[in-house]
Amino acid sequence: MNRKAVQKDESTGRIRKNPREVHEDSIMEAWLEAQTADSGQHESNERTNWKEIERHVLRLQRQLAHAVESNNRKVVRHYKWLIRTSHHVKLLAIRHVTQENSGRRTPGVDGKTYTTPRERQELAELISLRQRPLPVRRVYIRKKNGKLRPLGIPSIHDRVCQAIHKAAMEPEWDMQFSPNVYGFRPKRSTWDAISQLFANLCQKGSSQWVIEGDIRGYFDNVDHEKLLAKLAPEDRVYVRRMLKAPVIDPEAGLIESTRGTPQGGLLSPLLAVVALHGMEEDLRRKAHKMKFGNSRANPGINIVAYADDFIVTCKTKEQAEQFVPVIAQWLAENVGVELSLEKTHITHIYDGLDFLGFNVRKYKGQLLIKPAKENKLAVLRKIKGILDANKSAKQSMVIRLLNPVIRGWGHYYSTQVSKKVFSYCDHKINQMLWRWAKRRHPKKSAWWIFQKYFTKRGNRNWVFADGPYTLATMSDIRIIRHIKIQGRRSPYRPSDQEYFENRREQLLLKRLNGFQKKVVHKTNGRCALCGCNISPEHFRRWQVNDDDGILFTRMIPERLGGHNTVENVVVTHRWCYEKFRSAHGYDALPEHPERFLSYNESIVNGHVVWTGKDAPLGKEQPDCWTA
Ligand SMILES: [Zn+2]
Repeated sequence: MNRKAVQKDESTGRIRKNPREVHEDSIMEAWLEAQTADSGQHESNERTNWKEIERHVLRLQRQLAHAVESNNRKVVRHYKWLIRTSHHVKLLAIRHVTQENSGRRTPGVDGKTYTTPRERQELAELISLRQRPLPVRRVYIRKKNGKLRPLGIPSIHDRVCQAIHKAAMEPEWDMQFSPNVYGFRPKRSTWDAISQLFANLCQKGSSQWVIEGDIRGYFDNVDHEKLLAKLAPEDRVYVRRMLKAPVIDPEAGLIESTRGTPQGGLLSPLLAVVALHGMEEDLRRKAHKMKFGNSRANPGINIVAYADDFIVTCKTKEQAEQFVPVIAQWLAENVGVELSLEKTHITHIYDGLDFLGFNVRKYKGQLLIKPAKENKLAVLRKIKGILDANKSAKQSMVIRLLNPVIRGWGHYYSTQVSKKVFSYCDHKINQMLWRWAKRRHPKKSAWWIFQKYFTKRGNRNWVFADGPYTLATMSDIRIIRHIKIQGRRSPYRPSDQEYFENRREQLLLKRLNGFQKKVVHKTNGRCALCGCNISPEHFRRWQVNDDDGILFTRMIPERLGGHNTVENVVVTHRWCYEKFRSAHGYDALPEHPERFLSYNESIVNGHVVWTGKDAPLGKEQPDCWTA
């Protein structure tokens, strides 16, 4: 870029680019990207059939799970070996670490990231499971309460190795875990944990007292030897090396790792759950032995755990007080961590408790789960922060910044009793927006400001909108009940295959509108380009405007006259779509364009033409993924 392109704006002191130069810059950038992105790799990349690979890997994992079920150690070891040496598992692990994972651009100590297909191919040849892991790079991030939280970031190579080991270890463990352990397990979410808590507490005769467990610095304090003792011998070698990999701290230099699992690795979440394995069964057994009061048969002890957060229900306060030391002893003996007695509270259900961002409380005998107050205030504070930082930004820019926050937060709480909280937040957000708008025009009248920034739509008078951009509101988010997973199910068990297929479809269809449902139904919830399943998690990310995930896209591009019809729109992964377009160009017709047309459309000179009576005469229909 030459110097002319950059001008300093006298009035604001901000550097401004000459618009034409900016345009040329963007062309240059696009060209460079095209050169580095897929040069010469098309053939090899297109040959990778991800659908087939995913199916193959899952088949291996299911066979491993089957061997675990029939308790045949020799076969288990064999399948683990197969998974570890499988080329397909390696490719999937590399795709996961370098393309899907949010930390794909964060390098480890060696400073390497693998972003282009060529580099990824090099990485595939480099991967060696025998290699000792490199030290872990320590990074500090700020927690909600202002304290620093240490993360340990392994190098990309080690992360891929961890992903491979995880693929080999997870099926075995997932079959064994207790039904009410929800954290960091496939197909289980915080919503399942909350639904289980509801089931434990909702009834008239349910336990009334609750122990909120809090483990002091769980991830940093897990005892290595106790954890390793739980693992199978064939897994132990690698995990020991991983746990013992030293840490490079920005200040303290090289530190030996004696306790804890590095947060930031792919294997640590699994190890964290493994370390707590057996808690539910052991504590239940102990509760039975303790024979609380006269209720011998049913002491009312129920446990719900999400990683290191756990909730234990008890019938009386005395029971709860007696039970806390038992839990503390179990944790010290089996995991080597300490139960923080100051932070472990015993509460009555009428006083309410906070768990995973939700507030669980009984009102006059009825259990309601709402967003926790702290989290409600936190999101309002975040929105305030965005408005404060963008006092003079364009309105459309502000809307684009706020929408993901509002939708994302609302979506998380959309499975419980949140309507009132949503209206309250909308009210508060509108107040903040009004103050933000008034500050920009101190000399204008209120009516003028209202006219400039707000419009009336339907029966709503205060819609913050700028041209095509409209601010999302939480009250528009539908409340949709979650379907809780059945406790003993595991996605790896061959006999549960059908259950998970049904559940996936149900969860997915619940959250889509009519048009999207039809589009998704066309491909049975699979990506139209690679044929892999699209998970509800992908839809969630898509709904909150995250760039990872999926697209509803037109197969015949808009510029060639492709319409927003069920036939023409398909659902794909973002990366599949980008690869497809970079290979075929953005204005190319698909191979058999006829099948993407509805009955009154046809192709004339490479353009789609409507022939019916109700042809949309040059009417612009909104893109379905921006709408
Ligand atoms: Zn795909």
